[in-house]
Amino acid sequence: MQKAAPSRVTETVTAPRRVSVLGATGSVGRSTLELIGLADRPHTVVAVTANRNAKRLAELAVAHGAETAVLADPAHYRELRDYLSGTGIEAAAGSEALVEAASRPADWVMAAIMGAAGLRPTWAAVQQGTRVALANKECLVSAGSLFMQAIGERGTTLLPVDSEHSAAFQALDGSRPENIEQIILTASGGPFRTWDMNQLRSATPEQALNHPNWSMGDKITIDSATLMNKGLELIEAYHLFPVEPHQLDVVVHPQSMVHCLVQYRDGSALAQLSSPDMRTPIAYSLSWPERMPTSVERLNLAQISRLDFEPPDNDRFPALELARQALEQGTAACTVLNGANEVAVEAFLARNIGFLEITRLVAHALQGAEQAGLLVEPGDIDEVLVLDAAARQLARGLLNEYGHSST
Ligand code: NAD
Ligand code: MG
Repeated sequence: MQKAAPSRVTETVTAPRRVSVLGATGSVGRSTLELIGLADRPHTVVAVTANRNAKRLAELAVAHGAETAVLADPAHYRELRDYLSGTGIEAAAGSEALVEAASRPADWVMAAIMGAAGLRPTWAAVQQGTRVALANKECLVSAGSLFMQAIGERGTTLLPVDSEHSAAFQALDGSRPENIEQIILTASGGPFRTWDMNQLRSATPEQALNHPNWSMGDKITIDSATLMNKGLELIEAYHLFPVEPHQLDVVVHPQSMVHCLVQYRDGSALAQLSSPDMRTPIAYSLSWPERMPTSVERLNLAQISRLDFEPPDNDRFPALELARQALEQGTAACTVLNGANEVAVEAFLARNIGFLEITRLVAHALQGAEQAGLLVEPGDIDEVLVLDAAARQLARGLLNEYGHSST
């Protein structure tokens, strides 16, 4: 018997044509360009950006026929210009050039710059409208309310790329807020999930960078080891989805195959599962509301045979609770949390502080900011950046007090 072809329920939304990748040389950026190259219909790559790696940026720009390539650091401009000479690809550098590149009209922009450095370019991408695929979680942590307001006002479609948030976005599927009881983010637990306090005290950057499941940039990998990453994601989820802080929970799931569960009021829990490979959420943001083929490893549940879950341990990994407290305190506390954490991670990677001092430093910076009367809600992006700079200064001052050299 022949089965009738299913009727299409929705019209296909026009696939993005002109795309830009901010943070193109990074882990997410490179996977994004790989997927753009594989898409069945050709895209025009408008802009690719990076911090200071001129050679790698130029190679990517040439390989993907980008219109323009921009470095944040002007010290490497000449190098970039020389690499691109004769290619017809524009070269530029500096923070203004980065914002200009992010503002260029495009149907889809991947925001994958690491850290608060992504604030201004991502803000510019949101202002230019259409669709923004958001990997940079620090934007929402530091300035979530301002971003979500701007997105609403500009009519920009925000597509979450962080795997847990992409999973929630898929499992929520536009559900009405009153139907949602809870959103449960999963955390791998990182490389130190089973380590005791003594082991954690002497954990090295090399050990912390050795993530069991995910291959990512250094900063997010350290955040995964402290569980600050999950704290930042809690704040990110609060801004993205129609839930209150008490409706957000975290469960440790060492295999990183279930990315998020949405618990509904009728008792149903919907989850999204996939291999721990960022190409799946990136592909979804690129093809949404359709899906595109990827070569990501498929889950063979019979072979996997078991999936484990456990509660997070707040004694060994206090960063998660610290982030939750910042969320309760408000945007200013979240901005300080993020800025201080970036300084602390940098200091740990430079071996200026130990692993356990990362979260301690952030907690002290938050206390210092409160005592100094800095926790005033920022009214615009400039005020966010001023507060971010103040938080970094506070954190650097504390580094000196800890008896270590400042970064
Ligand atoms: P990465 O370190 O591999 O790459 C970062 C990119 O940002 C690079 O292109 C780098 O040149 C650029 N960059 C760094 N500092 C900059 C600056 N000061 N100015 C301009 N550009 C700068 O990082 P990643 O792992 O690709 O992560 C990027 C973002 O995506 C982060 O916010 C991270 O939290 C988020 N994210 C990453 C993953 C992942 O699997 N890698 C998953 C979820 C979310
Ligand atoms: Mg994540």
